[in-house]
Amino acid sequence: MASSQATRIASNSRWWPTAGRPTHAVIDLDAIRDNIRAVQHTVAPADVIAVVKANAYGHGAVMVAEAAIHAGATMLAVSAVDEGIELREGGITADILVLAPPGSTEYEDAFRSRLIVSIAELAQVQLAAAAAETAQVTGQVQIKVDTGMRRYGAEPGDVLALALRIVDATCLRLTGVYSHFADADGPDLSFTGEQLFRFRTVVDALAAAGIEPGLIHCANTAGIHRISATGQHAVRLGIGLYGLPPDDSVPLLPGMRSALTLRTRVAQVRTIRSGDSVSYGRTYVANGPETLALLPIGYADGLRRAMSNSGWVSLDGARAPIRGRVCMDQIVVGDCNDKVRVDDPVVVFGDGSDVAPRLGDVARLASTINYEIATGITQRVPRWYLRDGQPVALLRGSRLVRL
Ligand SMILES: *Cc1c(COP(=O)(O)O)cnc(C)c1O
Repeated sequence: MASSQATRIASNSRWWPTAGRPTHAVIDLDAIRDNIRAVQHTVAPADVIAVVKANAYGHGAVMVAEAAIHAGATMLAVSAVDEGIELREGGITADILVLAPPGSTEYEDAFRSRLIVSIAELAQVQLAAAAAETAQVTGQVQIKVDTGMRRYGAEPGDVLALALRIVDATCLRLTGVYSHFADADGPDLSFTGEQLFRFRTVVDALAAAGIEPGLIHCANTAGIHRISATGQHAVRLGIGLYGLPPDDSVPLLPGMRSALTLRTRVAQVRTIRSGDSVSYGRTYVANGPETLALLPIGYADGLRRAMSNSGWVSLDGARAPIRGRVCMDQIVVGDCNDKVRVDDPVVVFGDGSDVAPRLGDVARLASTINYEIATGITQRVPRWYLRDGQPVALLRGSRLVRL
């Protein structure tokens, strides 16, 4: 690719791939590192657990996990046993906590891959103990306490009995007790305070019974940014790891920045006449001659259909609005000047360093949260990983190639 083309774009990354699908994501591993370090600096002496569930919030689990551990995260967290196994197959040796309840048939696989399982019921202790015995390993478990989320967890009053059972099971080891905030990104932190109080009561009861609970942790990204981590051994950094705020009202720490940019290139340029309509349903009608650019990206790549006629991209550093409906594999953007050419670089969304929408802008247009936009980038989109602005790996489908 001509270097003049590369310098025409003011995105967060000047590097553009010279091979492969024009539509791609770029993940800045230096941003992942800096985000971990900023949080570490704030929560120390507490450790940082890097939450890499859902394919690292769409960023690609193995490379993000590796970067996070390298930057100093002491543990990883995923949601499904299979996600943990994928990390092991990718060569990750760090501790991995599975946050969600495993299926009753998954405990053995989990322990064979040295995953830490979250427990909330006595029946799960039995399943875990049987699986650890079959696998002939010591199964690590943590107790997930429900302090008010009313999702997964043990009733606070049941935790002591649960812990005693785990301690009794010779093939199990209790390595942590944790809870999860329901409203730490909301305007009123009183419920979060109540959750913390309930959690501390549980931890105190374990201590009084002489049980060593292992790692005590509570805070998600919002909790990290809004309450003190005092009394916790670790925090669970999810959305903030990717440089994205949990909510517009929760600014991230200085130095944290978005790691992902979604980009493509112009596939065709044409000029339409006044009265011509664009895309399915003819929802956009030109009221004068207009130059359009076709982009090879659609909702099957994770570009939300709600962006139809409302979103925009950055084309050669200028805003180009989406005309008509977002299709499965393509969109059409308008308001292009006559200098636009096939192969010109396009930023679909990025970190706000140019006129492209930020991920949060896209979320607002689609009436959702940035978590859903990031995790919605599909497997069809190749992910290029940069370190010091240079490519170090390519994730194509589920295949990771180091460069
Ligand atoms: C997803 C998740 C997190 C991370 O939350 P963020 O808001 O992304 O920081 C932490 N803990 C649990 C239990 C989770 O499910």
